[in-house]
Amino acid sequence: MSKSLQAIRGMNDILPEQTPVWRYFEGTVSRLLDNYGYKQIRMPIVEFTELFKRSIGEVTDIVEKEMYTFDDRNGDSLTLRPEGTAACVRAVLEHGITGGGQVQKLWYIGPMFRHERPQKGRYRQFHQIGLEVFNLDGPDIDAELIIMTWRLWGELGIRDAVKLELNSLGTSESRGRYREALVEYLSAHHDKLDEDSQRRLKTNPLRVLDTKNADTQAVLVDAPKMADYLDEESRAHFEGLKARLDAVGIPYVLNPKLVRGLDYYSKTVFEWVTDKLGAQGTVCAGGRYDGLVEQMGGKPTPGVGFAMGIERLVLMLETLEQIPQELARQVDVYLCAFGEEAELAGLALAERVRDQLPNLRLQVNAGAGSFKSQFKKADKSGALFALILGDDEMAQQVVGFKPLRGQGEQQSIAWDALAAHLATCVVQG
Ligand code: ATP
Ligand code: MG
Repeated sequence: MSKSLQAIRGMNDILPEQTPVWRYFEGTVSRLLDNYGYKQIRMPIVEFTELFKRSIGEVTDIVEKEMYTFDDRNGDSLTLRPEGTAACVRAVLEHGITGGGQVQKLWYIGPMFRHERPQKGRYRQFHQIGLEVFNLDGPDIDAELIIMTWRLWGELGIRDAVKLELNSLGTSESRGRYREALVEYLSAHHDKLDEDSQRRLKTNPLRVLDTKNADTQAVLVDAPKMADYLDEESRAHFEGLKARLDAVGIPYVLNPKLVRGLDYYSKTVFEWVTDKLGAQGTVCAGGRYDGLVEQMGGKPTPGVGFAMGIERLVLMLETLEQIPQELARQVDVYLCAFGEEAELAGLALAERVRDQLPNLRLQVNAGAGSFKSQFKKADKSGALFALILGDDEMAQQVVGFKPLRGQGEQQSIAWDALAAHLATCVVQG
């Protein structure tokens, strides 16, 4: 196929055989978020470029080298959203729904775009479920976010394969003091740092902490620790969070090097990581961003949120074989009709059954065909039962009811009794 007719590298089709797992995952998460009292918000996929520069920060990987930015026909610079928080903050400000201290607990789902090197678990169009809470500043809400995700891992059957990493970045004042101390220490070891870290030391020194370079990591062993620079308020907040996680029994690991890629975090930061996916091990990440709304032109408004990567979580469900069996079967009953008259009666009968059993997954054969070919299709559909309408059945106003998975003999059921019969033998989702 010519290159122009292929999908863009790192942007994937999600094929019909994969969509059941996606829908199962999305359904599980959205039910859980509904139950905890969170409301869905939907933002556009494209925003003014300025929004991301202002919120994410100019010297971050995303803004420096990962954004899909283009001029539209008016000459405005637009960007395909690389994450959801910026647009969500823009939306709540634009509509005034966080004004006067109104609490908002919001979530969203959809594609995000980053020009990264595509590999397993890392794509250029990927999908996130994200969540943001505004106007609650206590550790109780940070804890709730983590408790919800913990419940989610439980429901999905992957709890044993993820680990919670936790850190506090303090307020911007304490982070400022820490940054100074870190810069002073790292500058004294400048020659031992890798090139990237030397650059970051000038632009975004906290990011040096999450370097993958072994020599730089060795230098970091004796570097000043954020925990020693936390102000009293941040320390109390962090203790409050840990106490709540302890109360619910959620294990965590303190990771002083966890700084997150974006500029806007303060106090709590956390990541759920796994060793089941190779290098792309973070499945959910978030934290508090009390200064962001003000930075974007709003009144001071505390905020906290997270985002999870759907591709990575779907990969985990597959890797750990935690895909519910019932997803494999998508048809309950397959109706075969032979001849024009039977086809017409079959259509009407199918609609009557659907009226009575709205959740029944009933597929009516299309494209006619011989006995043999229709049965083959019925079998391949995965259906538990075939319904048969031929000349004999038409004459008697019955359908042949044939178990396809070896549960007994074929029998005849009167048309009027069909829905009631199906209700007893098909467990409906
Ligand atoms: P990473 O360190 O893996 O690049 P990140 O810190 O850039 O992640 P966030 O911006 O916090 O990621 O996004 C939240 C989650 O979205 C990540 O934990 C991950 O699960 C997912 N994610 C981020 N980038 C990608 C990508 N390019 N492809 C697939 N999933 C991604
Ligand atoms: Mg990244």
